[in-house]
Amino acid sequence: MTESTDSLADTDTAPALPDAAGARPVAPTRGALRPLGLGEVRITGGFWHRRQQVNGGPTIEHCRTWMGRLGWTSDFTDPARRGARDGRGLQFADSEVYKLLEAMSWESGRSVGGARRWRDAVAELSEGVAAVQSPDGYVHTGFGGPGRPRYSDLGFGHELYCAGHLLQAGVAAARTGADSGLLETARRAADHVCEAFGPGGIHGVCGHPEIEPALVELARLTREQRYLDQAVRFLDRRGHRTLPEHAVDRAYFQDDVPIRGARVLRGHAVRALYLSCGAVDAAVETGDEELLEAVAAQYDRTLDRRTYITGGMGSHYAGEAFGDDFVLPADRAYSETCAGVASAMLAWRLLLATGEPRYADALERVLYNVVAASVADDGRSFFYANTLHQRVPTEPAAADRATRRFGGGPRAPWFEVSCCLPNAARLLASLGAYLATADHGGLQLHQYADAEVRTRLGDGRPVGVAVSTRYPDTGTVAVRVTEAPGGPWSLTLRVPHWAEGAVLAEPGGPRRPVAPGTAVVHRAFEEGDEVRLELPVHPRWTFPDPRIDAVRGCAAAERGPVVLCAESPDQGGGDLEDVRVDTGAELKYAGDGAEVDGRFEPPLDNGRPYTSREPAREEADTRTVRLVPYHRWARRGPSTMRVWLPRLD
Ligand SMILES: [Zn+2]
Repeated sequence: MTESTDSLADTDTAPALPDAAGARPVAPTRGALRPLGLGEVRITGGFWHRRQQVNGGPTIEHCRTWMGRLGWTSDFTDPARRGARDGRGLQFADSEVYKLLEAMSWESGRSVGGARRWRDAVAELSEGVAAVQSPDGYVHTGFGGPGRPRYSDLGFGHELYCAGHLLQAGVAAARTGADSGLLETARRAADHVCEAFGPGGIHGVCGHPEIEPALVELARLTREQRYLDQAVRFLDRRGHRTLPEHAVDRAYFQDDVPIRGARVLRGHAVRALYLSCGAVDAAVETGDEELLEAVAAQYDRTLDRRTYITGGMGSHYAGEAFGDDFVLPADRAYSETCAGVASAMLAWRLLLATGEPRYADALERVLYNVVAASVADDGRSFFYANTLHQRVPTEPAAADRATRRFGGGPRAPWFEVSCCLPNAARLLASLGAYLATADHGGLQLHQYADAEVRTRLGDGRPVGVAVSTRYPDTGTVAVRVTEAPGGPWSLTLRVPHWAEGAVLAEPGGPRRPVAPGTAVVHRAFEEGDEVRLELPVHPRWTFPDPRIDAVRGCAAAERGPVVLCAESPDQGGGDLEDVRVDTGAELKYAGDGAEVDGRFEPPLDNGRPYTSREPAREEADTRTVRLVPYHRWARRGPSTMRVWLPRLD
């Protein structure tokens, strides 16, 4: 492989964006909070900055290399391939090219280095997409030929799903100034979708939601009402059994009941989450409070009953689906990376719509424990599924071919179904736009990273702050005011749900305890004023609801927002199948992880797995069990690992 690994040394220089406040993935016209754009928030150091640098160079280059090798991009860019309509990837391969385009576009908006590096690539690919587009706006490299007529397989064809990703890429390119005609291509594709599926057209929906949030976002950008109307049409049609019955069940497609009649997310996790994103977007734009509340309630219930401690979603390999309430087995956790990305997208939308900090908590959890876990340190391999218990060390993945088995196993450079890495790439490139918001009277910080924030309040006054922190390794977050307009305004800091005992220090004021939720400082700030938030990130135990039978009798350790795990290289030869921990003993700091007393006690062999007597264990001395951040696991070669640790009686 000949990818360049040079870092984007000039990422600290902000690019000149066409509309600094507009360079964001989600731009609702109403809601509790206004999201800030990439020109307003820059992550300048720390945990996420390191990942953004890897993402902006090696990961995007890696995705380009593989998509080129497999012919996914040249189906667009090679004149000899255009019009072949026999796409060389699976039916959703076009969407990966669009996600790559989206990631490169956001990266162009994130840094000058990113702009210099990727704009030509965006232009070349955009030209290819435009060349493949039919005169009526339809685009797909695999459908539309004689063997596969358009829209002949709405359940699994993914044509509208791919179109949705094209729309989102077009929006990203336009908002970051990377547009080379991609927005126009996207508009023509959207016009075609409205024609084909509008009144008098095909009365159907796509088996994989995605077109819904994409149409709403394009409507937000272009002010074109018909795109919003078409999104609402698709949302209203769903749940009325227009799709074929899936081998798993109708919930797989979320076509079992209408959206507002459902109580919880179910079926294929990524589909359910994308659909919910579209429903929130449409509800916000149309003022449909009932729909907004319905989706929020479904997500709340899903977070309470169908979500792993990591924030991961989807516990069934069959159908990549949610299980019933409390079906959350650690060793069969599917927790697809894309479901993590999609959950982040939904949490962000609900945070903007409602202002409820619990959605920022959910976003943080999935970022640190799914997205950060998935992608390798060098940005060139990734987990598709994110297990919470690896019993047998995984074999290294093949370096030179796409891995077929995508539901588990090691990080692999590429999978036949490689939705996850381009998805993580577009999220990481745009992550700055998920940190902070503004409203009429203040600025809200939801995620903590070294960052510079400059924006205008709703009343037009300019404000700026610089955030300095080593979070999540330490819990101190210092927010220094760099631009202060006259008069009072509010600086709001999220206090995570786990942060009992947090303390806030106002400029020149006393330290005061603050409860989980939000801490608000309202005053006439002066430049140089500093607000300090101290979050308790010492290691702590977390216990599962006993209805999660798969981990009953276990505990997991967390440190701030980071879930910890026990990994085999740290246990001095102790077998993690035999580990038990003393949750009554002190859970001590150990670097960015923790240490605790425990024992490695193999059960005595009864010869059979089920016997009439309670199994006895070998005697063992107390030993130290070492815990590391879950997101760091499997970075030292094949290993075993577990998040949930059986407790000593
Ligand atoms: Zn995926």
